[in-house]
Amino acid sequence: MVQKFAPYGSDVSAGTYKCADCGYMYSNQSKKSLPPCPDHNKKPHRKNGWYIMSGQGDSVNDPHPNKK
Ligand SMILES: [Zn+2]
Repeated sequence: MVQKFAPYGSDVSAGTYKCADCGYMYSNQSKKSLPPCPDHNKKPHRKNGWYIMSGQGDSVNDPHPNKK
């Protein structure tokens, strides 16, 4: 199973996300777009995005015409 990746600023739903670079776990309660990782300035970050661990992300309820 491939983890879904959402770059900073992606429109998402509430859920849990993991930094693609440092593994920081982020629980998104109400924001509609993803912030940069809190450790972004402390450690090298190359992917600049989050893996979607739970929640819907860019999924069926989101009007993004991404591939399935
Ligand atoms: Zn990070």
